[in-house]
Amino acid sequence: MKIGFVGLGNMGVAMARNLMRAGHEVTVWNRSPEKAEPLLAEGARRAATPAEAASGEVVHTMLADDRAVEAVTFGENGILSVPTRAIHLSHSTIGVPLAERLTKAHAEHGSVLVSAPVFGRPAAAEAAKLFVVVAGPDGAIETCQPLFDAVGQKSFIVGDNPPAANLVKLCGNFTILAAVEALAEGMTLAEKGGVAKAKLLEVLTGTIFGAPVYQIYGDILVKDVFRPAGFSAPLALKDMGLVAQAATDTRVPMPVLAVLRDHLLSTIAREGEDIDCSGIARTVAANAGL
Ligand code: NAP
Repeated sequence: MKIGFVGLGNMGVAMARNLMRAGHEVTVWNRSPEKAEPLLAEGARRAATPAEAASGEVVHTMLADDRAVEAVTFGENGILSVPTRAIHLSHSTIGVPLAERLTKAHAEHGSVLVSAPVFGRPAAAEAAKLFVVVAGPDGAIETCQPLFDAVGQKSFIVGDNPPAANLVKLCGNFTILAAVEALAEGMTLAEKGGVAKAKLLEVLTGTIFGAPVYQIYGDILVKDVFRPAGFSAPLALKDMGLVAQAATDTRVPMPVLAVLRDHLLSTIAREGEDIDCSGIARTVAANAGL
């Protein structure tokens, strides 16, 4: 297919590359143009604007946050600044209100939004092993299925209303971070009590905690290496803000969320903006005097 890809950060560059490897004709745009160079060398075309990237059948966006998605969609030379019919395949982790606004704007424009946020860190993106959570009109999803298959190992259809996929992604990220927090607290208790973190992890993952989230993050916590960030603490903080917004709008108390936000803030304040979200383990340990 002839597709565009907007946003070549940690995740986007790997996803665009896998789309090229699957035989799609990919035109790329990134705010900082130099990040496109490796893909151009591998055969991608450069678009001068996000609008130009939307001249094919589908335009993917994989951008940091709501503000970035708004800029490339509604801004000058944005995707909706031209009479495009391209399906907008939105992978970024964004808030439910923005997904609702995008759905409406595309309908008015005569185009279609499919929300397709992903689970998996950059290593999973590189290996085309992402999990894609999809919501949008049936026909558009069918058209995009080969694209999900090119970047991921499995896709889940949530329904025909795009914001539903964004809500699922936010629930997932909250649950991931809560699992990291629980692991960090357990490991801190083990360590202070004289049991190595690696031993605790071996027991946990060898019994009933064999899930990838405990294996992947447990390994990072045992190694205590949080840079370079695969999923940065500022991005996770952004996501917890979006979860809080959804929780407020739907009147759902989420007391654990307050702890996660607090620990992300402490971690960023003490360690800097470049730390991985799992660096909250440093804050948990420091609070225990380690
Ligand atoms: P990243 O490496 O920080 O890349 C962010 C991308 O957004 C870059 O291309 C950046 O452009 C662009 N951008 C930021 N602000 C912009 C603006 N105002 N206008 C235009 N472009 C802008 O982030 P990432 O790790 O790839 O994550 C991308 C999205 O996927 C986020 O929503 C994140 O929450 C989500 N996600 C991440 C992971 C993960 O493990 N990393 C996993 C699943 C989902 P520049 O290059 O010019 O800065």
